[in-house]
Amino acid sequence: MTTPTAQAAAKLIDGKAFAAGLVDRVAAASARLEQAHGVKPGLAVVIVGEDPASQIYVRNKGETTLRAGMRSDTHRLDDTTTQDQLLALIAALNADVGIHGILVQLPLPGHIDASAVLDAIDPDKDVDGFHVVNAGRLAVGLPGLVPCTPLGCLMMLKTELGDLSGLNAVIVGRSNIVGKPMAQLLLGESCTVTIAHSRTRDLPALCRTADILVAAVGRPEMIKGDWVKPGATVMDVGINRVPSRDPVKAAEGKTRVVGDVDFAEAVQVAGRITPVPGGVGPMTIACLLANTYTSACRAAGVTPDVLDA
Ligand code: NAP
Repeated sequence: MTTPTAQAAAKLIDGKAFAAGLVDRVAAASARLEQAHGVKPGLAVVIVGEDPASQIYVRNKGETTLRAGMRSDTHRLDDTTTQDQLLALIAALNADVGIHGILVQLPLPGHIDASAVLDAIDPDKDVDGFHVVNAGRLAVGLPGLVPCTPLGCLMMLKTELGDLSGLNAVIVGRSNIVGKPMAQLLLGESCTVTIAHSRTRDLPALCRTADILVAAVGRPEMIKGDWVKPGATVMDVGINRVPSRDPVKAAEGKTRVVGDVDFAEAVQVAGRITPVPGGVGPMTIACLLANTYTSACRAAGVTPDVLDA
């Protein structure tokens, strides 16, 4: 009998390479758009306060946007900014014809209602895909802007597996930014989709039914090797900081990043798996640029093509 540990190690899905390829395609397509139609895609990122992790994310986004030959505006506001001031900035960006994507870095300070701010973004510039209008468009299959992380997962899945129709997909996590849109996208590819969450009964058995297993939970290494169907494709969205393996470094507060999947176990069972880091994460920024390009195309009345895997 074949035991999970007797399987060959899974193929690693290299998100960094996928992301680099997508950024190159977006850059080339953006240059063509600018040359043919005089439209240079522009992304505005708004950050309020000094959260160190958010500052790093915003800097990375700005640098990648410029590398793709797009306009990159970063609006750094201090944490005393009022909701009205932030809403006034969003209104100005909505009206700016040179800006095609607006991203408000979360979390926002506690005195600001994040939903009110996200809802104020023009849905056609909502490159995070979080606006309720874009959630609705995705639900009914209309063109819109799709949240970047699930979009990146889908692009990698389609490249790796080709036609996804008929495959059983289990998504662990039902957040509005990952789990639910991932489910809509896979349903759109004619997968048979199950969404699991904290109340799901016998999660390991359910996961073992999955040809495609997407983990978006936020619990370090929760999904074990014997939850994975042999040969399945595992997409690990989780980003969790845990203490360093080295006890001395751990005592100094040093950390490492792990996913929601126990990689060392799952890699022995799965057919394909995304590592953490270097799997799903890099595709998120690449898809942000792809969404900005898509939005710029629509503003110019041109059909976007770069999202085709
Ligand atoms: P979230 O909003 O906290 O949602 C977590 C989901 O996991 C919830 O639906 C929750 O169920 C479910 N869950 C929690 N504990 C569970 C358990 N024991 N068994 C089954 N389900 C459980 O998280 P998120 O924003 O979707 O993010 C998920 C992970 O992805 C995090 O690690 C986050 O850092 C990472 N992430 C990565 C990227 C990227 O670029 N790679 C982007 C976004 C998020 P309930 O609904 O029942 O509470």
